[in-house]
Amino acid sequence: MKKNSFYITTTLPYVNAPLHLGHATEIIRADTIARFKKIQGFDVFFNTGTDEHGQKIYESAEKAGKGVKEYVDYYADLYKRTLERFGVLSDVHYIRTTDENHTKAAKEFWARCKDKGFIYKKNYQAKYCVGCEEEKTESELVDGKCPEHDRVPDLINEENYFFKFSAFTDKLENFYKENSDFIVPNYRMNEMREFIKHGLNDFSISRLKSKMSWGIDVPGDEDHVMYVWFDALTNYISTLGWPDKTPLLMEEGVGGGNSKNHHLALKGSPPQQGGEESLFSKYWINGNPTQYCGKNNTRFQGLMWQAMLLAVDLPLTHQIIVDGFILGEGGIKMSKTLGNTIDPLDLIQEYGTDGLRYFVLRDFHSFEDTAVSKDRLKESYNANLANGLGNLTSRILTLSEKYLDNGIKETKFSIPQVNDFLNTFDIQLAMKVIFDLINDLDKQIQKTEPFKVIKVNEEEGKKLIKSHVKQLLTIAKSLAPFLPETSEKIVELIKQNKKPEKPLFLRKE
Ligand SMILES: [Zn+2]
Repeated sequence: MKKNSFYITTTLPYVNAPLHLGHATEIIRADTIARFKKIQGFDVFFNTGTDEHGQKIYESAEKAGKGVKEYVDYYADLYKRTLERFGVLSDVHYIRTTDENHTKAAKEFWARCKDKGFIYKKNYQAKYCVGCEEEKTESELVDGKCPEHDRVPDLINEENYFFKFSAFTDKLENFYKENSDFIVPNYRMNEMREFIKHGLNDFSISRLKSKMSWGIDVPGDEDHVMYVWFDALTNYISTLGWPDKTPLLMEEGVGGGNSKNHHLALKGSPPQQGGEESLFSKYWINGNPTQYCGKNNTRFQGLMWQAMLLAVDLPLTHQIIVDGFILGEGGIKMSKTLGNTIDPLDLIQEYGTDGLRYFVLRDFHSFEDTAVSKDRLKESYNANLANGLGNLTSRILTLSEKYLDNGIKETKFSIPQVNDFLNTFDIQLAMKVIFDLINDLDKQIQKTEPFKVIKVNEEEGKKLIKSHVKQLLTIAKSLAPFLPETSEKIVELIKQNKKPEKPLFLRKE
């Protein structure tokens, strides 16, 4: 039987620093949903990668005394290795915005927008924060600086290409009305509605090459490169091989083409004759495309990208899941200057890959900001992994190995409540359900005392132990999307009816 398809993507981090805890959170969450969908029987396409163009990267490379290409290669390679350490699915698709197929797709996307009349040229005057790669309004500045980067914005005054964002105000407004769960959580949806209400302004989508050359060439105009966002956003479909086998506009030169020859609308496009369904059709058109992003990114993903899709008659994203920020102790922004950063790789060093995943998925709020403290992480690890799950596994399997003849292979392991929470992306609550079960089972053992019962009534004792092993198996299997390594380890021990040779999670002092 043909599997249903599912597409999920993270945003692409900029390649100008190692991945921080916020990146780790987004990637591990998306990975958890991808794993969950796979277990549910979906054919999953999971996308991540690196955003490698723009002025910020250009400047960072210069500062590091490296060629830009050498610089982005270094970081792309570092990211890929870091994903492995986060325990991310090995079949994750990794797109680099300097990849040839991406560059080609971005140009084609531009050409189609232009062909439809949604790109025009005008003088652009703006205050621009290179740190944000974003235009700043007067009201967003504090003492004339971008508060996020403590940087005086650059003044841009040049002729640029613009995208007719304003043309999509009504369409987006209606779309938001008709798709009430488009953005999760719901209150982020209201922010976007407010934004639309205030009117969408056309935005600049190119830069003069003479001032900043590190970008994708604008088709048909050698003097301009694309604004990094316009290029980067198209990665969500370039990764799927878009534009597939539809006729290209880009190669014919832009604007001169006769658009009646082009059949651009891909909505509901049939599978290619005699061949397999294209990746784009399978995962973007029919795979409920789902995008994770940070809360500072909602506007780009939820409005700009959707307007761009509308411009070229492509189906819109199915859902956007918005993360809160990961903050330092006391809710203060993590920064090198303050010395309050927590490096995800340090957490892995100390607690292992599943330790990091546990913190992200169980201790961090699914949608709100989370203030992270190293002491609290350690407490949580000791209480719930070393003592909780680790001890429980060891206690149950010690008795099982001693008194039961064989392990247990199969059980109904689905916990409907966990699935419900995962289907609404509330990963923290899904984890809470499982860790509540762990506590309950612990209490059950304390109450029923199988180690005593077995000495006076063997049959009764065995029955108790067997029931506990079965419950442990349910817990272990339901942990698979969250803590894949731990889940597999426990399931295997149960199958072999063996107690762990060493603690699953070492207690930290
Ligand atoms: Zn900034």
